[in-house]
Amino acid sequence: MRALILGGTAEGRELAARLTAEGWAVTSSLAGRVAAPRLPVGRVRIGGFGGPAGLARHLVEEDVTVLVDATHPFAERISISAAEAARATGVALVALHRPAWTPGRGEEWLEVDSMAEAAALVRRRFRAPFLTIGRQQLAHFAEDAEGRYLIRCVDEPEPPLPPNRTVVLSRGPYEVAAERKLMRDYAVDCLVTKNSGGAATHAKLEAARDLRKPVVMVRRPRLPGADIAVVVEDVDSAVRAARRAGWTR
Ligand code: NAP
Repeated sequence: MRALILGGTAEGRELAARLTAEGWAVTSSLAGRVAAPRLPVGRVRIGGFGGPAGLARHLVEEDVTVLVDATHPFAERISISAAEAARATGVALVALHRPAWTPGRGEEWLEVDSMAEAAALVRRRFRAPFLTIGRQQLAHFAEDAEGRYLIRCVDEPEPPLPPNRTVVLSRGPYEVAAERKLMRDYAVDCLVTKNSGGAATHAKLEAARDLRKPVVMVRRPRLPGADIAVVVEDVDSAVRAARRAGWTR
């Protein structure tokens, strides 16, 4: 049986290892955004498919039994492609998205629906934000000439960027004590993040709570394909869903 895992996440890598160990022929697909990505076991392909039609063609050509959308919850376009390609081809779709974070005791969250809204709120209320939002949406903050920004991402970000900034390049997982130190050293006055969920980057929320700094939290987009996919929240459930889809084919 063949699985195509749309990855770029820790869950995608774990699932590739689990299905490979069960004898599946697994190919993991990455977008190619990160210069030196962590690679899963098994075959890996890198780069887009050319939209839903390209992905549908790939599913048929490669005789894929199960398509797993294990992408990041904010990677919306590829999830739309997965749903449309599954609909067009009849290939079973499993959507694996880790649960969203919920505010812990003592955490002050200011929830918004988009990065544009987050940027507007930051400009109104804060002067020293800590951005942990990846590289792709930093442009929303670029016109804020007054804010002193701490920006953390995996690879060097490209302009447009806020003029007054310090960029820290690193990749999780992170520890609470180190997160507290970083936030203290740069005297940040808020944390800006997407509601990615998961344990690897949760420490920043605990550090912000300890330092009594508010969190500007971008809510998740609606999951595309919830009507056609078997939706699961952890790798064990994804393995079971893939097995079931394999049996019923
Ligand atoms: P996106 O906006 O949903 O995708 C943009 C385009 O990139 C897609 O239309 C597709 O191109 C291609 N693409 C995305 N993921 C792909 C994959 N796994 N395999 C092959 N092509 C892929 O995605 P994004 O937000 O740029 O994220 C890109 C990747 O980074 C995702 O795989 C995601 O899991 C990972 N990631 C994203 C975030 C985040 O915050 N967005 C955080 C951590 C990791 P075509 O239309 O040409 O097929």
